[in-house]
Amino acid sequence: MSNDHSSPRIQSVVVVGGGSAGLLAALTLKATARWLSVRIIRSTSLGVIGVGEATTPWFRRYLHDTLGIDQNEFYRQVRPLWKLGNRLEWGPADRTHFNYPFGESFIKSRYQSLSKSNAYFMLAEGIGPPSTFSFLMDSNRAPLLRDARGRIGMDTRYAYHIENKVFVEFLERIAVQRGITLDDEEVVEVAQNKQGIASLGLSNGSRVSADLYVDASGFRSRLLGEALSEPFVSFADSLYCDTALTGQWQRDEPIRSYTTSTTMDHGWCWRTEFEGHVNRGYVFSSQFCSEEEARAELKRLDPKITEPLHVIKFSTGRRANFWVNNVAAVGNAAGFVEPLESTGLQTIGETATRLANCLVDSDGCPTESMRRLANEQINRWWEDIRGFLAVHFKFNTRRNTAFWQQCREDTNLADAQPIVGFYKESGPSGLYYQMMPKGAIFGYAGYLALLIGQRVPTRYQSQISKNELCLWKTAIDENRQRVEQALTNEEALQLIHRPDWRWH
Ligand SMILES: Cc1cc2nc3c(=O)[nH]c(=O)nc-3n(C[C@H](O)[C@H](O)[C@H](O)COP(=O)(O)OP(=O)(O)OC[C@H]3O[C@@H](n4cnc5c(N)ncnc54)[C@H](O)[C@@H]3O)c2cc1C
Repeated sequence: MSNDHSSPRIQSVVVVGGGSAGLLAALTLKATARWLSVRIIRSTSLGVIGVGEATTPWFRRYLHDTLGIDQNEFYRQVRPLWKLGNRLEWGPADRTHFNYPFGESFIKSRYQSLSKSNAYFMLAEGIGPPSTFSFLMDSNRAPLLRDARGRIGMDTRYAYHIENKVFVEFLERIAVQRGITLDDEEVVEVAQNKQGIASLGLSNGSRVSADLYVDASGFRSRLLGEALSEPFVSFADSLYCDTALTGQWQRDEPIRSYTTSTTMDHGWCWRTEFEGHVNRGYVFSSQFCSEEEARAELKRLDPKITEPLHVIKFSTGRRANFWVNNVAAVGNAAGFVEPLESTGLQTIGETATRLANCLVDSDGCPTESMRRLANEQINRWWEDIRGFLAVHFKFNTRRNTAFWQQCREDTNLADAQPIVGFYKESGPSGLYYQMMPKGAIFGYAGYLALLIGQRVPTRYQSQISKNELCLWKTAIDENRQRVEQALTNEEALQLIHRPDWRWH
């Protein structure tokens, strides 16, 4: 791989893998470093993983702004549903749930005339964020709000629920339209040289070579893991789950405008929403329960779930570096954490964007220091996600099974340790937000939603007066009433499916 500007410019890229990671990486490179010729080699007989449906608001902006994907086309072909946040059936068992909503930041926000930010009032009252999206979630409404004159406006800070396979088919069509070549072959042999990969042998007997290889081969990590033997940094002491059991059922109940994460005996369950059906997945630790036990528990939770259920085994962790010599990995080939906060697709987009920016800024000749910086940043993100997820496991007091006992006793908080330590001593002070390192995926608001929502003990004693509490409750009630004017999910879907509806 070139380390300086005397080396040849990267002109050609081969992406191994045509799941969402490979396609998004190819589209990002093509959209950003426009001179590149990009070819995807993927094996349809090996197939794609078929899961990965909940996303973050960042991912929505990335699709439409960075990749320039037209929203009208996207809605027509992929039929996503909005996701306003994560409802966590989690924490103390004396209440049903708390929300981690998208939208306005409740640590920075403060109602006029009150001395402290919302986070202090949340702590005093023991409730989740009193934000627009949280109220919309609880009243099962869409982010289409009516103003005082009855006009409808959309609050676009939401994320998507998207079906993986439909999304992959859509991205394939866009890739072809944009001049990306798609080949249906299996990479059966990898030749190496001192630059990293020299060429790939394909199942049809031919060989291909390129200036840069993107490994998007999923859990196989065919180039970075298998060929280059880049070490795997395990997160197993922070995240104990290693298996997912997934299924779905036909919808016969109202649509929810959020992802639901439910505490189970040996892990947790996601629930994602689509117009015609609901997807569920039980993520559990095989150290604590067998597949049969997990299957039985999942069916008790959702008797309507239909066979076949699919089993996916995984290891949580990341490769020591995502970019080594002339190979950069994205998606499950680079690392994986369970989807408790739906970070997979965002991490793919962020990684591909960093890679593309390095190519553009170096005129196609990325330097060693650039590559090091990109690796450091992506590693920080992985570690941030690991710590954030660890907070979910360390403090969930809802069930007392052996799995949850071990989580509470032994979970390694890793990079989340300082934030949790600060909160335990100082409460929900926004000062941490100002001082914490920039560039983390989860801001302090996310941590606070979890720490307050799970009632993690803090030595900070609330000094809020009754009068202020009363003013705060009046203010949030006004917001809640405003939200009750929003459209229900069903009303909103009718509106956006009208032929004259246009996304901008
Ligand atoms: C249980 C579970 C739930 C998840 N939920 C979410 C979620 O809610 N939100 C989210 O953002 N992410 C989620 N993810 C992560 C999500 O699946 C991935 O982020 C995303 O789908 C990317 O997958 P991928 O493209 O890396 O891998 P895959 O979809 O597995 O694609 C791998 C590609 O490589 C090809 N390939 C492999 N080997 C070869 C070879 N030798 N030659 C040629 N081609 C090859 C395959 O054919 C395929 O095209 C979840 C993951 C799991 C396991």
